[in-house]
Amino acid sequence: MKRTTVETLASYVDALRSIIYINHFDFKVIDDSIAKIGKDVKCVEFNNAFGLVDFRTKSPMMDCDLEGFLRLTWEDGFEQETFLILKDVHEELNNPKIISLLKKIAELNIYDDTYNETVFILSETLVIPNSLENYITIFDIPLPSMREILKIIKNFIKDLDIKVEQDTIDEIALSFKGLNEFQIKQILNLAYQDGGCIDREDKFLILKEKEQFIKKSGMLELVNFSEKIEDIGGLDNLKDWLYRKQKIFENLDKALKFGVDLPKGLMIIGMPGCGKSLTAKATASLFEIPLVRLDVGRLLGKYVGESEENMRKALRLSEAISPCVLWIDEIEKAFAGVGENGLGHEVTTRLFGQFLTWMQEKENTVFIVATANNISKIPPEFLRKGRFDELFFVDLPNVEERKTIFDIHLRKRNKWNKDIDYISLVKATEGFSGADLESVVKDTVELAFIEYRNTITTQDLLNTVKNTKSISNTLKEKIDEIRERIKKVDIKSASRKVN
Ligand code: ATP
Repeated sequence: MKRTTVETLASYVDALRSIIYINHFDFKVIDDSIAKIGKDVKCVEFNNAFGLVDFRTKSPMMDCDLEGFLRLTWEDGFEQETFLILKDVHEELNNPKIISLLKKIAELNIYDDTYNETVFILSETLVIPNSLENYITIFDIPLPSMREILKIIKNFIKDLDIKVEQDTIDEIALSFKGLNEFQIKQILNLAYQDGGCIDREDKFLILKEKEQFIKKSGMLELVNFSEKIEDIGGLDNLKDWLYRKQKIFENLDKALKFGVDLPKGLMIIGMPGCGKSLTAKATASLFEIPLVRLDVGRLLGKYVGESEENMRKALRLSEAISPCVLWIDEIEKAFAGVGENGLGHEVTTRLFGQFLTWMQEKENTVFIVATANNISKIPPEFLRKGRFDELFFVDLPNVEERKTIFDIHLRKRNKWNKDIDYISLVKATEGFSGADLESVVKDTVELAFIEYRNTITTQDLLNTVKNTKSISNTLKEKIDEIRERIKKVDIKSASRKVN
């Protein structure tokens, strides 16, 4: 059974985790949890503004700095079980004296049976000095469960004395999934002030607010798109697979009750310009859910533990807005250097491990779409069965696919006509990528406009083909290498007919 915040926090204290770092902004919620596990414990608080503070009444007791506070209180643990609650002290964690005092407390707590003192650090910013790394445990406040969300909504309604149908409460509660208590209350307040009631329409308000959280966090990027699954020419195996997953997403509740596993996601590997990014966007469109991009480079921070913390935040945020598609573009670059020696690589290796664990354990509706060109640079752990639901290889489009891609891009620009001779076009464009074919259509349409022609002919298109350097010309070696490496891996072809 899932533990509550208070139970988890209590288990950390019991396990002699000497310094518990709670990286959160809502100190009231944390104070409540600490108060619950510290009923019979001496609790002393340090507050940056007032010095020593009575933890329960919050009245200032003595003006002092953090060093003075620690000197005054470090021995308390010999007399009785003590909690030291330090708020917003992250900037002090680079001070060698503070580090030594905290280390002293932590060591005594672990090695001396007559000493019992636990330090809680509460801050929105995570700073972990190297020398305290082994003593600090980062504590994540779990997001409220469905039951807790329902309780928050019901209490809110009760306090305001308003009437809301049970169906509406259930529906809204579902949309709140992934947000913390503070955010839920904030949105409920907003919704109430907006319309004087709580109703189904507030679901859209919740979605909008969730988008705000994404933007503010800077950890994930919300991608706007207009591409649909019908915009993909070919890749029929891949599309069929997506249609199947869409059926599950559409009836998730029923599917899970039936015993279907939660879809995890897919990895698409292959040639540049052949529809990998297009598929990521079309997936979100097919599932009718938001598309968010995870840029691992953006998560790297300069302090110890900062990058891992950013990754944790980004993944939690993706859960917060789930169901969603989490897109990791060029995954081989995102996790470049995993397993290799070197300072930068250590962090990437840790981030990679963190991401893998999250993927392995994930019980949520975040659908991962990872895209990559270079299979040899992808950490092999990703390629093992069971990580992703499926791996697909996207090759240069075959004859049938080239025809469809021409068709899609001509129709998109209203330039399709029945006289277009696809057979000649397809013959002339062997080795062209989807992006090359699109560029042929684009350039031909542009030329027709400049030359005041309303229609375009097969010959116009063939002329542009002649002047277009396809990917097979410009990147021949890279393409051969991708094909060679792909042979050694158990991977499905995204296309139905292989060249
Ligand atoms: P890269 O590895 O360079 O990022 P990619 O495989 O992600 O490439 P996309 O961005 O999906 O390539 O493709 C570029 C453009 O080419 C698309 O926006 C689309 O217009 C066109 N295109 C590529 N493949 C197809 C396809 N199969 N059907 C229709 N259009 C395609």
